[in-house]
This record gives sequence, structure tokens and C-alpha cells, in this order.
Amino acid sequence: MEIEIKIGREVEGGSVLLVPSSCKKVSRRHASLLWKDGVMSIEDNESANGTFVNGKRIAKAKVKETDSVWLGGIGDDNGYQVDMKKVFDSCRKAEEKTKTDYSKEFEDIKQAYLEYKAEETKLKNSQNVKMRIVNFVPMIAGGVFSLIPLESLGFMRIIGLVIGVVITLVLMSKSGKHDINEEITELQIKYQPRYCCPKCGMKYPFTTHWKKLEADGKCPNPKCNAQFVK
Ligand SMILES: [Zn+2]
Repeated sequence: MEIEIKIGREVEGGSVLLVPSSCKKVSRRHASLLWKDGVMSIEDNESANGTFVNGKRIAKAKVKETDSVWLGGIGDDNGYQVDMKKVFDSCRKAEEKTKTDYSKEFEDIKQAYLEYKAEETKLKNSQNVKMRIVNFVPMIAGGVFSLIPLESLGFMRIIGLVIGVVITLVLMSKSGKHDINEEITELQIKYQPRYCCPKCGMKYPFTTHWKKLEADGKCPNPKCNAQFVK
């Protein structure tokens, strides 16, 4: 993608960087920046007072985001320093807008789903173990108390059964479904920032498998044109 930005005190049309008229050493059409597939260069437009990159007067040069670029004179009150970070950011943003191939980013969307599912399965399994223990408690309690001779310890037997039931109820309420749903919600909050569209930001529900996204080949948002499969 190519973007040309004209710089000067009187530039217009297309992409421009208008320099304040107080910068008297800057020409009306001083220079232009050219962004081509992530590489930036600057070309002086035969200006009266010159274009400087890292202290050197240039006619044309490649520029990086960290370079110091001055028009009309370095550190001069009547000159102008180009904010290169801002220029790079706006070019990157413009490029992002036209980008439709998100097949690379899709790899991480897929990964996020797989990691989420793995943790969810682990949670559900540990929940099953808890539930099994809870189910065993009354059986064990029943078994133990059935060993106590009925005639001698009838009263103790009833007390024991009551205690057994109470313990079971407490355990059940502690490892109930409520907890696991909360933990699953927390998991979803953790993985949601990665299980979403890298272009429009649409959050994908975890009930939608990544394979469904892959089969569609693109973001489900009809207003978005992010392609997931080349
Ligand atoms: Zn999208």
C-alpha cells in the first residue's frame, strides 16, 4: 500500500501535513513523505531552506520512526519538526483499514479457543471428582453406622445418620454447580480478549467453535471484511 503525504504551509488535496504559517522558513510545498508497504521515505521539493534528517540536509532519504526530521532549519523557531511517530501511526492505521487478510491472526484466535477448552475441561473434571466424593459420603456413612449393633446403640445410630446427612448437604452446597459456573465465567473473561475479531473487535461466544469460523472463512460480523482463510 502506498500513501503520499504532502508537507508545507500551503498544501491541499489527498493526505497533507499542513505546517503553521508562522514557520516562515518552511516552503509552501516543502516536501513529501512516501509510505510504501511499511517503509517511509521523505523527498525535499526543492525547498528554499532544505529538509534535514538526523542533522543532514537531504534531497531524498529513507526515514525511520525514531529519526529527527526538520524542515527549514534544525531547532529553528521558524522551522518545523515533523512528528514522525504520529506520521507512522497514521499510515499504519490507514493500512490496517484496508487490510483484509487476517489468516495469521486467526492462528491465535484458534489457539485461544483451544486453551480455553482445555481449562474448561479440567474444571469440569475436577467438579466431577468432587461430586463423586459427595455421593460416596452417605454410602460410607451408611455402611459404618450399619455395623453398630441395633439393640445397644439405636440412639447413636440415628444421631450418626443425621450427622451424615448434614455433612453431605454442606459438601454438596460447597461444590455445587454455582461455583463452577462462576469459574467458567472467569475463564471466559480471561480468554475473550483473544477470542474476538482482530479487525472489528467482535467478541465470539465460546459456544462457537473455531472450526465454524474457519469454515465460514471470515468474521461473522457482516460489516467486517476480515478474512480468516486465504
Ligand atoms: Zn470482524
